[in-house]
Amino acid sequence: MALSLAEFSLVSRFLRQLPSYLLRPVTIEEARSVLQQRLARREADFLDLVRRAIYAHSQSPYRVLLEWAGCEYGDLVRLVGDRGVEGALRALLRSGVYLTVDELKGRRPVARGSRVLRVDPVALRNPWASLHVAARSGASRSAGTPVVNSLDSIRDRAVNTCLTLAARGGLLWEKGVWAVPGSLTLILRYAAFGAPPTGWFSCVDPWTPGLHPRYRWSERALRGVAALNGVPLPAQRHAAPADPRPVLRWLRDVLDRGGVPHLWAFPSAAVQACQIALGSGTDIRGARLTVTGEPVTDARLAVMRAAGVDAVPDYGSAETGGFVAYGCLAPRTSDDVHVFHDLHAIVQPGPDGPPGLPGEALCVSSLRATSPLVLLNASMGDQAVVDDEACGCPLERLGWTTHLRAIRSFEKLTAGGITLLDTDVVRVLEETLPARFGGGPLDYQLVEGEGPAGEPSLRLLVHPRLGALPEAEVAEVFLRAIAAGSGAERIAGTLWRDARIPVVVRRPPMATPGGKILHVHAAPLYANG
Ligand SMILES: [Zn+2]
Repeated sequence: MALSLAEFSLVSRFLRQLPSYLLRPVTIEEARSVLQQRLARREADFLDLVRRAIYAHSQSPYRVLLEWAGCEYGDLVRLVGDRGVEGALRALLRSGVYLTVDELKGRRPVARGSRVLRVDPVALRNPWASLHVAARSGASRSAGTPVVNSLDSIRDRAVNTCLTLAARGGLLWEKGVWAVPGSLTLILRYAAFGAPPTGWFSCVDPWTPGLHPRYRWSERALRGVAALNGVPLPAQRHAAPADPRPVLRWLRDVLDRGGVPHLWAFPSAAVQACQIALGSGTDIRGARLTVTGEPVTDARLAVMRAAGVDAVPDYGSAETGGFVAYGCLAPRTSDDVHVFHDLHAIVQPGPDGPPGLPGEALCVSSLRATSPLVLLNASMGDQAVVDDEACGCPLERLGWTTHLRAIRSFEKLTAGGITLLDTDVVRVLEETLPARFGGGPLDYQLVEGEGPAGEPSLRLLVHPRLGALPEAEVAEVFLRAIAAGSGAERIAGTLWRDARIPVVVRRPPMATPGGKILHVHAAPLYANG
């Protein structure tokens, strides 16, 4: 595979701008004042972005939605003046100005009343942002959407990374990144405030056949240019979550040197590393983590805590140009996070919202001119509890006063033809089954696929390390716990029992190509079985 001309031009633009990016790190004082300015200019920044990237951008699908809603720019200015950014966004949402996750990704045309519009995801790109770093959407149950990022956007978000790490006392911690090949955005985000990582690991072998050469190319180019500018970056090394020895060695090395290692990782990878550290007697106590990209649950955090590791979640997606929120430092739940409302505004449809959006759906809007994609009440398929309850933690004192908790995907889990909620599945896999049969949060997994005749199949994987278990009883406990909910879950329990699903299979959980272990994994039965 060769680089296309368009990709080549992206890469060369990126390399030309990189030196000035690396040589002008953001200081903590600068980060604090940038945040205060952004919070003070929120309404003006939002209106400016909407004017330039939507009203003045003929391709923008939001322009059509606003026209359908009868909202001209002057109307929006008045609305924001009267009700603030969130109040205006709620009014727009009720008038049909929003995108569901299927509409956002172009999987389904936008239909409002009798009018229909097809969204090309490329038309959501911010025409004013200079884009040059390819990122990939981490959507867990669908093919990723190519998203392009910019150095300006990464630096904008690095301000918040700098402030959150400083709030944890971690500006001087040694940084490591354990992600997927080509995770340049994360490396650059840390480098933006003078803290380039010393450990760079990939869950997937960067030399896997079939992987786009861009991943190896861009890593080499980044390291080469950084080295020329006096910023040494580590080579990316392969560390599979099931064999995390390179990561554990890096953590140990930093601790042996008297430092504090801080690793960015997926929760399931971090859990596996902590389990292996505990099992092999590798002492990683004192290591710090930021975990993201999958639900962060009590059961998963408990494994990390048992290894003496302090983990804080962050929340976001490639569509939002990185993260939207960072973990509260006095959390009430395992996934309690503070919204970066200097970068985004979040509103919820409430009980009388539009079809296809649950009342607690998170509708995200971009505020910054550097946003790679323009979002206006765009749903990523997640829902959460949103509130402004005081926690007293340093992030609240910085001005981020809104919390998200109980964050879950509401995209349909059509396991075995029945729709289930993530929340119920997670509870049963991480709490009910381990409480009854032993094991931890990564020892049970649902795998949905198809049988030989195309019929839906559902397997419940149970890790062989749990020893011999009565399979029929495991299936029965699973069904009873799923059926204990209401509505769809009850139907599932009854239907599945009749159809003898799930089939209990003794094997370790399956990982996505990106190395994540999801609660419900989609796999063709025979290709991976
Ligand atoms: Zn807090």
